Amino acid sequence: MRRLFGTRVPFALAGPGSQPDSKRAGRRAPRLRGIAHFCETMIEIPAAAVLARNIDIVQDVGSLRARLAAWRRTGEAIGLIPTMGALHAGHISLLRKAKRYARRAVVSIFVNPAQFAPSEDFAAYPRSLEKDMALIEAAQGDLVFAPCVEEMFAEGFATAINVAGPAAAGLEDRFRPTHFAGVALIVAKLFNQCRPDFAIFGEKDFQQLKVVERMARDLDFELQILSAPTVRETDGLALSSRNIYLAAEERARAPLLYAALSISVSAIKEGVPISRALELGRAMLNEAGFAVDYFEARHAESLKPIALQGDGPLRLLAAARLGRTRLIDNLAV
Ligand code: AMP
Repeated sequence: MRRLFGTRVPFALAGPGSQPDSKRAGRRAPRLRGIAHFCETMIEIPAAAVLARNIDIVQDVGSLRARLAAWRRTGEAIGLIPTMGALHAGHISLLRKAKRYARRAVVSIFVNPAQFAPSEDFAAYPRSLEKDMALIEAAQGDLVFAPCVEEMFAEGFATAINVAGPAAAGLEDRFRPTHFAGVALIVAKLFNQCRPDFAIFGEKDFQQLKVVERMARDLDFELQILSAPTVRETDGLALSSRNIYLAAEERARAPLLYAALSISVSAIKEGVPISRALELGRAMLNEAGFAVDYFEARHAESLKPIALQGDGPLRLLAAARLGRTRLIDNLAV
C-alpha cells in the first residue's frame, strides 16, 4: 500500500502531547512539540505553515480525540467537514455553515486513496495545505485533522463497507465502480474518529451526499448529516479542486455543463417531457465537444429513475469530460 499511495514525506506537527483547549486559555497559537508522528505518505506539511497559522493541526487519531474530548467536556457542539483539501470557496461555505450550527468546526483533509481507481488522479490530486490552513483560519475553523494514509489504513487493514441503494444508482458508480465504497469507508472512519454532532457535505457531489445519508442511517451513526448548496463561479461553473486541470480554452467552455442543466430544468418546468428535456441538454454538451458520461433525471432522494414529472422531487445529475478533466454537476428541478 505504501508504494501505491505516495512518496515518503516526513513532517512534524502538534501531536499527542498537545494540550486541550482548557489548558490553553488565552492562547490559540499552535506549538510544535517534537515529531509526533512519522508519516511515509501524503502531503508535506511545511513546519512554517504549522507555526505561522493560528489554528491547530493534528495528524493522529489520539490527538484528535483528546482535543475533541476537551471540547465535549465543556458542552461544545462539534461539526465535521470532511474534505480532500485543495480548498476553495465551496469547502469554506461548508465550514461557515458549520460555525453557524456549532461552537467548534473540524475540517478533515485526507486525499483518500480508497476512492480513486488505479487509473485516476490520486498522485496528481492537488495538495495545498498551507493555503488550506489560511482559508480555514480565516473562516474561524477550530482544528484541522490531516491524517496520513498509514493512520487511516493501518498495517493489515482488512475491512470494507458494501454500499448499495443510492451508491448503485447507475450514475457516478457506473464510471467509478469502487468510488463510493472508498468514500463510505473513510467517512465512516471519520465519523468514529471525531464523533461530531453533525457533518456537512456539499450538494455539489449529490450522489455522495445521498450515499452518506443512507450509510449514516443504516449504521446508526449518532450524528446529523447536513448539506449545503453548490458554490459556483460567476459564469455558473461549480467550484471544484479539479478545475485547475482545465486548459484556458476548456475553462471557457466548462460553464456549459451548468448551462445545459439549467436549460433542461427550465424545459421540464415548462412541461417538456423529461426525456426530451434531457436530450436537449445532452445535445448542447455534445455539440460543445464534451464527452457526456451521463445526463439524467432522478428522484432527488432515492436517485432512482423518474420518467414523469410529478412522480417525486426531481434532480438532474450530469458528468461530462472536457479533455482530461471530468466535471460533475447537478441541479434541482
Ligand atoms: P472534496 O474535497 O472534493 O472531497 O469535497 C469536500 C466537500 O466539499 C464535499 O462535501 C463536497 O461536496 C463539498 N464541495 C466541493 N465543491 C463544492 C462546491 N462547489 N460547493 C459546495 N460544496 C462543495
